[in-house]
Amino acid sequence: MKITECLDTALSQTSVDLACRSRVEKIELDAQGAVTGVVVGGEHVGCRAVVIATGGYGGSSEWIRRLLPKASRVGDWVWHVGNPTNRGDGLTMAEEVGADIRGVDSGLLLITPNFVRDFEVIGPDWALMVNTQGRRFAAEDGAYWEIAEAIEAQPDSRAFFVFDRRLFEDAKPHPRVLEALAAGAITVSWVPKVFNEQLQKGGVHESPTIAGLAAKMGVDAATLEMTVTRYTDSLAKLAPLTMALDPCTTSHIAELHYGSDSSRSDRRHPRNQSCPRSGCRKG
Ligand SMILES: Cc1cc2nc3c(=O)[nH]c(=O)nc-3n(C[C@H](O)[C@H](O)[C@H](O)COP(=O)(O)OP(=O)(O)OC[C@H]3O[C@@H](n4cnc5c(N)ncnc54)[C@H](O)[C@@H]3O)c2cc1C
Repeated sequence: MKITECLDTALSQTSVDLACRSRVEKIELDAQGAVTGVVVGGEHVGCRAVVIATGGYGGSSEWIRRLLPKASRVGDWVWHVGNPTNRGDGLTMAEEVGADIRGVDSGLLLITPNFVRDFEVIGPDWALMVNTQGRRFAAEDGAYWEIAEAIEAQPDSRAFFVFDRRLFEDAKPHPRVLEALAAGAITVSWVPKVFNEQLQKGGVHESPTIAGLAAKMGVDAATLEMTVTRYTDSLAKLAPLTMALDPCTTSHIAELHYGSDSSRSDRRHPRNQSCPRSGCRKG
């Protein structure tokens, strides 16, 4: 049985009145500051207490500006995938009756390559991730909030995923993404079909050399080359452990051709370096 059906059944056994598709506009107080009711559609509805459960504030650019100022760092790469009716009304109403609003920048921004404005969360753990200085800064297979927080801490809160033609063609969504995809709750960006489309649209850059790729990324070529060398060298040392575990093995990374700019979101620490899809470990 669905949660809503359980609630509906429970409600049918009480004298509770429901007002669906109605927006509560205001909490009303008496002269002593005690709650006397709410205003819904211009009408007063009396009550002695109000439980505010109006969700988040993602549907309000004003509340985002106020409570999530870190989002301004990524310009127009910010959008909201939740319920559009979550406009922070509860915050507004509570503040109007004297509540103290706390929690600035406590929300989690999620990573996206910005190919489409939809829910994505998990990037490729099989590609090299570098910042706008061309440096690797976190384990690519960290939890989505770890990657997001690590990107947030980088200059411009931006990162690039760098990979070669073979990784390009072998790209598969993370198993957790496939689960969400089956549930119709997510968009898949990190697959060859989308890469090919984005090559035309400029969301993915291509170059026959790392230096050429660095130029397209706006990244220092020498730094990116050094990062790639270290990355591939560290994988090479582990090759005996991972020989059969393509595409996380070494040589395929030697010629990097593609970089996708992936902007972001929130913080957290890099930690283990394992690649769950292949079982290999990265340097
Ligand atoms: C895409 C997506 C994926 C998520 N995945 C997960 C997950 O995997 N696991 C997890 O734990 N959480 C997940 N979450 C978060 C989870 O959905 C929320 O934390 C949860 O729904 C919050 O519940 P809530 O009752 O506080 O608010 P909501 O479910 O947002 O409900 C608030 C309700 O209040 C209504 N409302 C707003 N203002 C007014 C008003 N003035 N008058 C009357 N009604 C009003 C809104 O229309 C809405 O129906 C996800 C969220 C999103 C957007």
